[in-house]
Amino acid sequence: GTGKYKGMVEDCCCDYETVDNLNSEVLNPLLQDLVTTPFFRYFKVKLWCDCPFWPDDGMCRLRDCSVCECPENEFSEPFKRPLPSDDLKCQEGKPQAAVDRTIDNRAFRGWVETKNPWTHDDDDTDSGEMTYVNLQLNPERYTGYTGPSARRIWDSLYSENCPKYSSGETCPEKKVLYKLISGLHSSISMHIAADYLLDESSNQWGQNMDLMYDRILRHPDRVRNMYFTYLFVLRAVTKATAYLEQAEYDTGNHAEDLKTQSLIKQLLYSPKLQTACPVPFDEVKLWQGQSGPELKQQIQKQFRNISALMDCVGCEKCRLWGKLQVQGLGTALKILFSVRNQETGDGDHQTLQLQRNEVIALVNLLNRLSESVKMVHDMGPDVERLMEDQ
Ligand code: FAD
Repeated sequence: GTGKYKGMVEDCCCDYETVDNLNSEVLNPLLQDLVTTPFFRYFKVKLWCDCPFWPDDGMCRLRDCSVCECPENEFSEPFKRPLPSDDLKCQEGKPQAAVDRTIDNRAFRGWVETKNPWTHDDDDTDSGEMTYVNLQLNPERYTGYTGPSARRIWDSLYSENCPKYSSGETCPEKKVLYKLISGLHSSISMHIAADYLLDESSNQWGQNMDLMYDRILRHPDRVRNMYFTYLFVLRAVTKATAYLEQAEYDTGNHAEDLKTQSLIKQLLYSPKLQTACPVPFDEVKLWQGQSGPELKQQIQKQFRNISALMDCVGCEKCRLWGKLQVQGLGTALKILFSVRNQETGDGDHQTLQLQRNEVIALVNLLNRLSESVKMVHDMGPDVERLMEDQ
């Protein structure tokens, strides 16, 4: 095992070694398959830069940044839409930052024909601004987005929304948002380093080990937060078992949809998960304090700010993955706060309702974190050596 990471993941219920084995042997292979299924590979998202902050910023000026949208009725025809050349100005001239919106009509047949009980609220108000993105065509990786614009977003996420707890802080609830953002940040950085544009002139992509060490591995707390976030999201998925099991994974492609359903069941009822890490994170223990309802409201408010900040990410592909993963985290929070705990009666008393897009975001987020955890695990001896060097 990786020497620095022994014992229990902080505030969680499983140790690092168990998480690594469970992830590598069972969860990661299942998730990798799951995210390629038609249900999970298309994400509905509003990609316009609609930043409510920093209005003077020319980089993130509303609709200028967007590729023109296709009206819904065009979806029945398969077509490829070339990127308008002026779109690149929003990506600082970097093609790798742009989102491929090649429309795959197979994705929409089921979505249009099937009445979807999950998409009922805010999406409808601006559905004309929504676009469908094939996540498989748009891997999260290096885009060249950097500098003050990117830094400003991370700074805001940390300083305004989840103030770093002081060492004397005794209330673990307050740490949760910080750790979730930090864990997500680590995972994003892992993906940037794992799939990096090493040589621009020859368009050569590959792993950037120095970056991986510098940004994540030599900061044990960032690695720990990543494991924490992984277990947090995994717990949300297992807690939503009853819902996810009966949900309709219908895209109109019967064979593929059966496979999706089977993979979901394998994930939820994996014997190894049930025995090795049945409760990956104990939200009941964490949120039992007197501050319960106020805490929920506070976290909700902070989390809304975090989501709003995603509209300010000045690189389209980063915005896509930022939005997806923040929505995934929001879904995890919603599940952990809303599913009633049988033993204590904690949590909201209504039954859990998720939108289709929330389920897609949740599972894709879990997969991203799973990939990052696997990357750290796979380079175990290297990580250990690095820690010794410190
Ligand atoms: P940054 O990663 O910008 O970090 C800023 C500061 O935050 C660091 O100096 C450090 O003090 C602190 N910090 C860093 N990591 C952690 C952590 N895990 N926990 C706590 N504190 C930390 N770029 C891409 O190439 N591809 C993408 O897909 C992509 N997606 C992005 C999505 C979002 C939402 C945002 C805000 C940015 C994204 N970026 C992406 C940009 C990328 O995250 C970096 O901002 C950029 O590469 C510059 O990195 P940096 O070295 O300046 O440090």
